[in-house]
This record gives sequence, structure tokens and C-alpha cells, in this order.
Amino acid sequence: MTTFESLGLAQPLLAALAEEGYENPTPIQLQAIPPALERKDLLGIAQTGTGKTAAFALPILNYLIGNPAPRRKMAPRVLVLAPTRELATQIADSFRAYSRYIKLTVMTVFGGVPIPRQEKQLYTGVDVLVATPGRLLDLVDRRALLLDQVEVLVLDEADQMLDLGFIHSLKRIAQIVPRQRQSLFFSATMPASIADLAGRYLTNPVKVAVAPVSTTAERVQQFVTHVNQAEKQPLLTMTLKQPEFAKCLVFTRTKHGADRVVRHLQGAGIRSAAIHGNKSQPQRERALEQFKKGEIGVLVATDIAARGIDIDAVSHVINFELPNVPEQYVHRIGRTARAGLDGVAVSFCAPDEKAYLKDIEKLTRLKIDTLPLPENFLKEAAKLPKPVPTAAGEQRDEHRARRGEVGTHKHAPRRFGERGGRPGQSRHADHRNGESRFGEPRAEGQRSEANRSEGHRADSHRSDERAQHAHPRAQGSGYGGNNGGRGGYGRSGGNRGGGGNRGPRASAG
Ligand code: AMP
Repeated sequence: MTTFESLGLAQPLLAALAEEGYENPTPIQLQAIPPALERKDLLGIAQTGTGKTAAFALPILNYLIGNPAPRRKMAPRVLVLAPTRELATQIADSFRAYSRYIKLTVMTVFGGVPIPRQEKQLYTGVDVLVATPGRLLDLVDRRALLLDQVEVLVLDEADQMLDLGFIHSLKRIAQIVPRQRQSLFFSATMPASIADLAGRYLTNPVKVAVAPVSTTAERVQQFVTHVNQAEKQPLLTMTLKQPEFAKCLVFTRTKHGADRVVRHLQGAGIRSAAIHGNKSQPQRERALEQFKKGEIGVLVATDIAARGIDIDAVSHVINFELPNVPEQYVHRIGRTARAGLDGVAVSFCAPDEKAYLKDIEKLTRLKIDTLPLPENFLKEAAKLPKPVPTAAGEQRDEHRARRGEVGTHKHAPRRFGERGGRPGQSRHADHRNGESRFGEPRAEGQRSEANRSEGHRADSHRSDERAQHAHPRAQGSGYGGNNGGRGGYGRSGGNRGGGGNRGPRASAG
């Protein structure tokens, strides 16, 4: 069996990996590390959760160990580009964890944080810089950052970068960095636009690919419950009251939707918190910390806020609303199948979301099993606390949605700039004492620029809808059952055990 040692990694890295508890390389690491160690360019198709960060971080660190150079002010040797500040933070945390036995400065720069602080830090010198493209170029334009010493360039989650409107920034960065460099390019999908971008960055790349979209989805037991929009909240409350739903991530399409769900849950005595672009940094950090420690069992998140967050051992993902971009579904359910763990995902599908469900099934090539409503649903729902009144902001959003003034995520106009929140949580918790040394900036009370794209979707149906109970009541295991598995969703009923009509594996893109 190939081990990290046999891949030829230097001793300080092997020691750090042992401390991380990594026993063997993951498939993407097995494929990517050898050519990357030979300083070849890489074109990697891999998603979060596959171990792709270590797949590029380890060969880079190995190179830095073998080729030491004095730290230069404002001029990093390694530049990693990431779409959101969460991901940038996590990548930087990974670099710090793997380089704990090496003297190295890792720094992040992203929007939403005062720029002078970042300028000052860059001036003190940096080896590895992890950045979002917009803030990176701001710093270049202010002459606070030089990219002429970059020896290795990583572009991570390229598809998300394009989705967030970074294409022009990325094209500009490609022109600024030295021609003589190694480039490592990762994306979960490879449509023509990404392939074109990759062409600008890479020279004769070695192609590596693991876990295309559908295979990540296959690791998660998935269910769909057909339910009217107005019934979703009582269904969620009843579902979360089951003890098996110990650590559950709930996705909503909008920020206000997330807040509303939390208010309902708290009204029903379920400890929960929301993370989204309207929350301040400290609020987000606190929510995530409470969730990680188990002080709250439910985290309600919007897509952008949750993107890239690596929370260990999420037991269930519930899609309170289905995403209208099918890839987003795979990202969501991937939260519950981290690093080889299995997970359960349940989607609440209203009648007008059926088209989204179809798109998801087409992308994943899985037929998602139906989980019927609980037998006693209506009776039990009637006992729950009355819905909390809609807040002014929510009414405004929904009113606008009804008038068709807000677009969908896919088609909404996008502005350039940084997006996403920063929960500031490390998946390498043991190394957080190094944070102040590396001087990672913290934003206090900053509003995320994710607001621009997040939380405005045409979901006009929801407030008008009357509770109708026209769904078919299938037989067998349903909600609240004691049929084992996680939360009453019997394993045999899931699409893992051959229950679903799984087609051939989809290749991404
Ligand atoms: P990533 O795909 O880089 O987001 O990594 C997903 C998770 O897998 C992170 O929590 C990593 O710490 C973890 N991980 C990465 N490589 C390994 C490995 N070889 N063995 C065990 N866990 C790993």
C-alpha cells in the first residue's frame, strides 16, 4: 500500500500528518502528490471532502522545505486563490497544520476586513498567501503586494470562482504572476468555461480526477419528503425532535428563511442558530463553535455561508428548501459525508420544487427515495407552537419575490468582489494557537459581501400556500420510526443499498 512516506514526503511533513491522524493518502492525494512533487502542473477534478487541500499543500510544502529562501516582504512564494473567505481560512489552517514543524509564514487576505491591517502584515513578510481574487487585486493595485516572486500558484474551486463572478480577476492575475511557475488547478466540475480558464493557467498539466459529483452523492443516504411549503416548518420541528438528529445542518435558500426557521425551532424548544451573510463575524463564530461543541444541535445555513465549512460528524443534512442549482445540492449533502463518513440527507420538496428535484436526480443519476410524512403528522403538527410572525424584512423579500423583482441564484446579476462569511473555525483545532503568530485578520461586526448574491430568490409560493395534505402516504419506515440507522431512516430504504435506480456514474461537468 502506498503511504505518505513512500510518496517521498519530507520528515517534518510526515510527523505533522501523523499528528493529524492521517494514516493513508486519499485517492486524490495518491494521484496528485507524485506529479506535483515533480513540479508538474496539475488539473484536478475533485470536491471538498476528498482531501484535495492536502493533495496540493503537501507537495508545495515539500518543495519549500527542499528549497529554502529568506522570507520576503510583500512577495509570497506560494499563492493560493480561493473563492470564499471560509475556504481561504480553511486552506490556510491546513497549511499551518501540515507545516507545524517548519518555519513558515502563512497568511490569508480576503474582503470584509480592513485593508491597512493586511498591508501591514504583508509588509512583515509572507511565504504562503491564501487569498480571494478581489482583495488580492486591491492589494496589488495599492502596491502592498507583489506577485513577481510567486513560484507556485494554486487555483482552488475554480467553478465556484466563476460562479461568483471572478473570471476577469482571474484572467488579470494570470497575467501578473511569473510565467515560470508551477500551477495547480482544482475544480469540482469541468465545463468548457473552466477548461478555458485552466488553459490560461496551466502548461502541459497532468490530469487527476476523483469523486465526480455523483460519487460524492452516493456516499450519502438520501431521501425526499414531498410536503407543502406551509407544512415544512412543523415537519422540521418534528424531525429534529428525534434524538438521532443530534448534529444537523439545515439549509434554506434565503437569509430571512434561515432566521425564521431558527425562531420557529427555538419556539419549539430546539436549540439552534443561523449562519448567513447578515450575521456578524462574532455571531457566526459563536454559532459554529456552539454547534461543534454540541451546545446546539441544529445549524441553519444558507449555501454561501456554509460553503467550504468543514464540520466533522454532521449526522444529517436537511434541505428545508431545495437549491435551484443542482450542484449546490451535492455540496450541501457533502457536509454529512466528510472524510469517509456516511451521512443522511433529507430534502423537503414542495410541489413547485419538483423541477429542482428532477435536475438533482439528473445530475447525480440517482433516484432519491421518498420518505413519507409521519403517520400522525397532522395531529402532531397541530400540537406545535403557532408560527412566529414574519419579520418586516422577510415580508419585503417575499413581496419583491412575488412581484418578480428578484432573480434566482443562477441568473442574479453579480458584482465582482469577495463573498462569503468567515466563521473562523479551524478543522485543525490544535493549531489555532498559531493564529496570532501568523496574524490572521479578524473582522469584527463586518457585514459579509455575500449579501449581494445570497438570499434573494424567487420563492413566492411559500407564504401563500395553504396546508394541503395531498401527498401519498407510502408504507414502511417513515419519520419517527425506530428502524435503526440515523434518525429513523432505515439504511435498507436508502439509495446506498441498491434501493434506488442508480445509473452509471456521472462524470462531472
Ligand atoms: P478537503 O477535501 O481538503 O476539504 O479535506 C476534507 C477532510 O479530510 C479534512 O477534514 C481533512 O483534514 C481530511 N483529510 C485530508 N486528507 C486526509 C487523509 N489522508 N486521511 C484522513 N483525513 C484526511
